[in-house]
Amino acid sequence: MEINKDQYVYQPKRKKINFKIFLLYFTVFCWLVIFFINLIGLYPKFIINYLRDIFIFIIFFFVILYFEKIKEQFGKKDLLRIFYLVFIIIISVINLSGGIKSYLKWIIVIFIFFIAYSGILKHSLIFILLSFLCLIKQIMYFTVDDYFIFILSFFITGFFYIVNLKLKKREEKEISIGIEKEIKDLKTQIYNLLFNYLKIYQSILNPVSILLLIRNYKQEELFDLITYTSKYTEFINRNFKIDLNEDILGATLKKNDFFIMDVKYVNVPYYLEPPPQGIKKLVIKKIVKDKLIGAIIVDFETDITEVDYIKEKITNLSEEILDILKIFELGNYIVNKEKQISKLYDIYEKLNILEGKGKVMRHFLEEIKTFDIISGYIAEFNYENNKFTISENFGYQSSITGRELSIEEDEILKYVYNSGKNIIVENVLQKNIKLNFGRENIDSFFMAVLRKKNLIYGFIKLDKKIGSNFNDFEIKTIETILASITILFENAELYERMIKQATLDGLTQILNHITFEKKLRESLEKCDKREFACVSVIISDIDNFKNFNDAFGHQEGDGVLKKVADTLKKFEKKYERTYAARYGGEEFIFVLENYDIISANKIAEEIRSFCEKNLEGGNEKEKRKITLSLGVCTYPDYAKTMRDLIKNADEYLYLAKKQSKNRVKSILDDKGII
Ligand code: GH3
Ligand code: MG
Ligand code: MG
Repeated sequence: MEINKDQYVYQPKRKKINFKIFLLYFTVFCWLVIFFINLIGLYPKFIINYLRDIFIFIIFFFVILYFEKIKEQFGKKDLLRIFYLVFIIIISVINLSGGIKSYLKWIIVIFIFFIAYSGILKHSLIFILLSFLCLIKQIMYFTVDDYFIFILSFFITGFFYIVNLKLKKREEKEISIGIEKEIKDLKTQIYNLLFNYLKIYQSILNPVSILLLIRNYKQEELFDLITYTSKYTEFINRNFKIDLNEDILGATLKKNDFFIMDVKYVNVPYYLEPPPQGIKKLVIKKIVKDKLIGAIIVDFETDITEVDYIKEKITNLSEEILDILKIFELGNYIVNKEKQISKLYDIYEKLNILEGKGKVMRHFLEEIKTFDIISGYIAEFNYENNKFTISENFGYQSSITGRELSIEEDEILKYVYNSGKNIIVENVLQKNIKLNFGRENIDSFFMAVLRKKNLIYGFIKLDKKIGSNFNDFEIKTIETILASITILFENAELYERMIKQATLDGLTQILNHITFEKKLRESLEKCDKREFACVSVIISDIDNFKNFNDAFGHQEGDGVLKKVADTLKKFEKKYERTYAARYGGEEFIFVLENYDIISANKIAEEIRSFCEKNLEGGNEKEKRKITLSLGVCTYPDYAKTMRDLIKNADEYLYLAKKQSKNRVKSILDDKGII
């Protein structure tokens, strides 16, 4: 097979009878024959036979019923071709059985009803006209009820015309409501995500408050408070705004990307009342995408000793916020823009980025089938090993998903990759094409490069079945869709990541505080419903961690946090119905469903001794053992509420710290059982 350097690769067409063309000629031929036979009155004069007519009626009914069931499988064009053929048969049967004198003439009404019901109204009129023409020779025999057949057929068509119009209007209305709802859902989800992010950073940085402000799109000099987390939530002025031209915060925002302000003696403007300890330092960070779009404010009761650490974390936060905002903006943009282009809109409307990338891709492939496409797949490019990996497919064996294709091993792929052009490869039947993975009924396929900005994102391959080729209109439409589809894929992926990040702690990849709280509440509810008898929690805190950080730096400290989290993950696997979470900075919590205080205590002891034996951290010169102090409590035996459960476990943790650390404490110690 040879590949031209043109945009599309057209190859000389094989000389073969095209089934569709054949059908068309055959239909026209049959029409002419019937019409002329009818015109010269050559049809045989059958004797009217009621039994035969009833029999034919019944068969016809069943055929229609069956057809109604299977018609979804055909494309619209194929359906029309079939209707025309069926109509020829009907008219022939009517003509052969006595023309207008036969009772079979009523099949016309049933047929027109079916056609109109299917919404093919233009053709319904053509059918009425054609049947009239085919019976015109007998017009002198027409009685009132014969005319009635045609009038009734017109009425049926008219009736469905009106019904269709109404349905269409309602659908349009529903679609527009759907979009608004989607945007609203998206907005709520985004706001929740943003809030959750701030909460995560609140537990990492332990400031008094974190505020997120976004530029007001009507008054560009103003920045509105969108969401915040604070130790003193009730002190925050929810209507707080920064004016770029007026206050000191505005002036700072204008000038600096990252700025630490000393505010010991100044009133911080977003507090309704000054916080009890007073604010000492205030950090303000720009959020920039092309232009300034927002700001993060983080303030502290204490002096900031580790500027680099704080700066790194706040910069991360600003990048993450930007990612989330991007989803919203692009989601909005796509929904609005494509409203005008209905075909594209249909497809986009069904692709909801909130479902994750895999599902979006699958839905997309499912939708693209309307172009008579029998199979296809999407592959993504991996810049690390310069290979394409198949992400989703339809019509192929599911095992091809995940397969890698390297550019060098396939000529077509190499061409697409090097030229960056879309191609159509035709006449590939019987040819052994690697990209077809052994599928034999592919006649031609279309391959397009998917891009994001100027980079290659991957490619999509769409296959046509035997006897059908891509036409220019299809290609143009598919190309238009593909032009912005990667944005959807990327956003869906981003969203997936975002959800994962919002539930997992970024550093340790175990549950974060917010998710933990939600899960614990559910556990306790299940316990209340007697799904199990009790819920235990183990709170642990790394011993002398501040010293460790001071000695080896935060980076090494973060490494230790990961090691502890990995240990808890091991225990999560070992013991059923347990889960671990990062409770705060270097505190972890381990929840055990249906474990009483004695077994929870044993597991806590196991965790403690495992860490003591196996965990260490430091540098080449010096290594230190990592130990934990742990407090245990059980619901409902020793705590009646979720708050008490955590508070009590925390108190025992405090006792463990007081008694020289690296130990487990619980109510059992008070009772002298252990
Ligand atoms: P104790 O044995 O009494 O627990 O002593 P400690 O030094 O561990 O005291 P404390 O629990 O109050 O110390 C908390 C320290 O944990 C302070 C902070 O530097 C460190 N920390 C909190 N979050 C992080 C983090 O995400 N990364 C790193 N590297 N350190 C953190
Ligand atoms: Mg601590
Ligand atoms: Mg500690």
